[in-house]
Amino acid sequence: MSRYFSEKYKTLTPYVPGEQPKDMQYIKLNTNESPFPPSDKAIAYAAEAAKSLQLYPDPECSLLHEKLAALYGVDKDCVLAGNGSDEVLNFAFMAFCDKTHPAIFPNITYGFYSVFAEINGIPYTEIPLREDFTLRVTDYLGQNKTIFIANPNAPTGIALTALEIEAIVKSNPDSVVVIDEAYVDFGAQSAVPLIKKYDNLLVTQTFSKSRSMAGARLGVAIGCKALIQDLNTIKYSTNPYNINRMTMAAGLGVLEDEAYTRANCRAIIENRTYAAKRMQKMGFTVTASQTNFLFAKHAKVGGGELYTALRERGILVRHFDKPLLRDYNRITVGSAEQMKTLCDTLEEILNEK
Ligand code: PMP
Repeated sequence: MSRYFSEKYKTLTPYVPGEQPKDMQYIKLNTNESPFPPSDKAIAYAAEAAKSLQLYPDPECSLLHEKLAALYGVDKDCVLAGNGSDEVLNFAFMAFCDKTHPAIFPNITYGFYSVFAEINGIPYTEIPLREDFTLRVTDYLGQNKTIFIANPNAPTGIALTALEIEAIVKSNPDSVVVIDEAYVDFGAQSAVPLIKKYDNLLVTQTFSKSRSMAGARLGVAIGCKALIQDLNTIKYSTNPYNINRMTMAAGLGVLEDEAYTRANCRAIIENRTYAAKRMQKMGFTVTASQTNFLFAKHAKVGGGELYTALRERGILVRHFDKPLLRDYNRITVGSAEQMKTLCDTLEEILNEK
């Protein structure tokens, strides 16, 4: 730390992203990326957009917002694209939390929430999940604090129903409820239709998972016009050109290729079922994931030990060395071939025990 670093940030512990290793080719199942390439249309549109990189991108993201609005069946003023959903989530912390509206979220969830709260000086409370990692809906009723829920949750993969989300939104009319749907395309129910009914609901989604665009950084917030206006105030006060030309074009391309996205999601769900079944047969405890990852532990091998054994065999998964999580590993669901190799390798490791 330099002696110039602001007092405000001296105690900040930054978010630690999953490894992007350069030492060798791994089967990379550690950051929940898609095993499928971006849509051909996304690639072609991005290449075309590269020819105009001397010009700033459209700060209003007009075409993209129109397409997103059509996708979600909402008004154009009810969506806002972000530089990854991380950006819109940070905007939401900035816009809707302060000392009188502290944040609450589960104690086991996306690790960035506490970092966003810390960097923005927002008080927050982490609400314990049940021992089986399920969320107790009653903990969130009538709280009147700004609520952040990843649905499905990460790294557990477990989802609430739209009815449960609605109960939470309805019982907190004087504060914003943010539902982070980064993984919703892999089987869970989306809360987006509820934004027409509740002016305190903000939903975020990402193009990083189901749309194979993690490298482009594109996310979206969906909410009533007034909430989106507030996010725009933050956007225009920080980074008006938050979506670059190539990403914007790629986003338009993939949205014209919904059949490709849907087919990829179906394949991931199939591969998830295959891997979960095989792992359960081997004695793994696997949570009921509705995402593109599995969260699993085994009585015979510790989480850290399994992470290392897989890494030595060329498979990278995510291990969180934290009290409630360290027995587990989070394993991204990849292609059918990757899942077969994963399961064969897990069998090998267990047989050696
Ligand atoms: N929410 C959750 C629950 C996530 O796991 C992630 C991915 N790390 C994000 C949001 C952010 O995704 P992105 O910024 O790539 O859209």
